[in-house]
Amino acid sequence: MVDLKGQYDKIKNEVNVEIQNCLENTAYINGPAVKEFQHDFEKYLNVKHVIPCANGTDALQIAMMALNLQPGDEVICPAFTYVATAEVIGLLGLKPVMVDVDPETFNINMEGLDKYITDNTKAIVPVHLYGQTAEMEKIMQFAKKYNLFVIEDNAQAIGSDFTFENGVVKKSGTIGDIGCTSFFPSKNLGCYGDGGALMTNDDELALRIRMIANHGQEKKYYHKVLGCNSRLDTLQAAILKIKLQHLDEYSSLRNKMALYYDENLKDIENVRIPKRSANSSHVFHQYTLRVVDGSRNELQRYLADKGIPSMIYYPLPLYKQEAFQQYVDIGFSLPVTERLCEEVISLPIHTEFNQEVSDYIISEIKNFFKS
Ligand SMILES: *Cc1c(COP(=O)(O)O)cnc(C)c1O
Repeated sequence: MVDLKGQYDKIKNEVNVEIQNCLENTAYINGPAVKEFQHDFEKYLNVKHVIPCANGTDALQIAMMALNLQPGDEVICPAFTYVATAEVIGLLGLKPVMVDVDPETFNINMEGLDKYITDNTKAIVPVHLYGQTAEMEKIMQFAKKYNLFVIEDNAQAIGSDFTFENGVVKKSGTIGDIGCTSFFPSKNLGCYGDGGALMTNDDELALRIRMIANHGQEKKYYHKVLGCNSRLDTLQAAILKIKLQHLDEYSSLRNKMALYYDENLKDIENVRIPKRSANSSHVFHQYTLRVVDGSRNELQRYLADKGIPSMIYYPLPLYKQEAFQQYVDIGFSLPVTERLCEEVISLPIHTEFNQEVSDYIISEIKNFFKS
């Protein structure tokens, strides 16, 4: 699905030097590279504070802890997302309120969300799925109306730009109260292990986040609140510093491959190419087709036979997962989420565009629909 080796080969010399430096100066925990990457990332995102942590799931959990959400509080999130989004809500004793998504952008559908609001609703977690920012303008208006916190799950869309009606452009993850991201190797800005970060423009929240990620202490051995131990490794920060310099170039290479898929797949009758949102640029964490004639699983098997990997993100709505049964009534169902779980298929997409490989994938998809 991704070509991490090809990507590494291109930046090998820079990366190896940085890693060597880390090994030589032995500051394995909170070494200089962590702060350096933090500052570079703040600058890139145009956000006041980046707080690195151990992974994207931790980032979401720390965000909810920092906002002081309490057991019983309700948090709205899309049902069509990776489990981490809702998992941390449940882990903290909060209630995930799962809502439907837009069939074409795959992001949270803001129409008619008022009916989910109760006295306990405290936050909303939009997920910028597959690489496009959700409708942040509407989400911020909704949050303002109901006095909700906004936590952006930006694990899949780092680098994407959201344009407001007044023309202001902001990076995804810097619009809500807190943005969260992941540096898992296959993410658009991935390291060589686990990593994550939170971002915020709020000075006080930034302090709280830092404290919670560091055992609830501001001063060593004095613990103000219950926290956790969530750090970005110095080695990973050193790698991320280099990869950040290439992020925009990676995004445009992903776009190039996506456009090539678009052009060649758009005329297949039972296939829908991914729609671009009106207000967001796309960084194509995933290139996801919809197969609308019920043959998605068959297509996946066919491609596998031809040696072409593909993935189903995600095969089951969150509310159908065993782990989430306590949060929904029997028979609970969201029509679009339900349909997308049957229709979506993600194709290989990466930063090493290869004409031959792309043509092979395209021709086999065409062959499948011809027969
Ligand atoms: C990857 C991902 C996460 C979690 O990130 P980890 O670093 O793997 O913990 C959270 N939300 C979404 C939407 C993701 O894709």
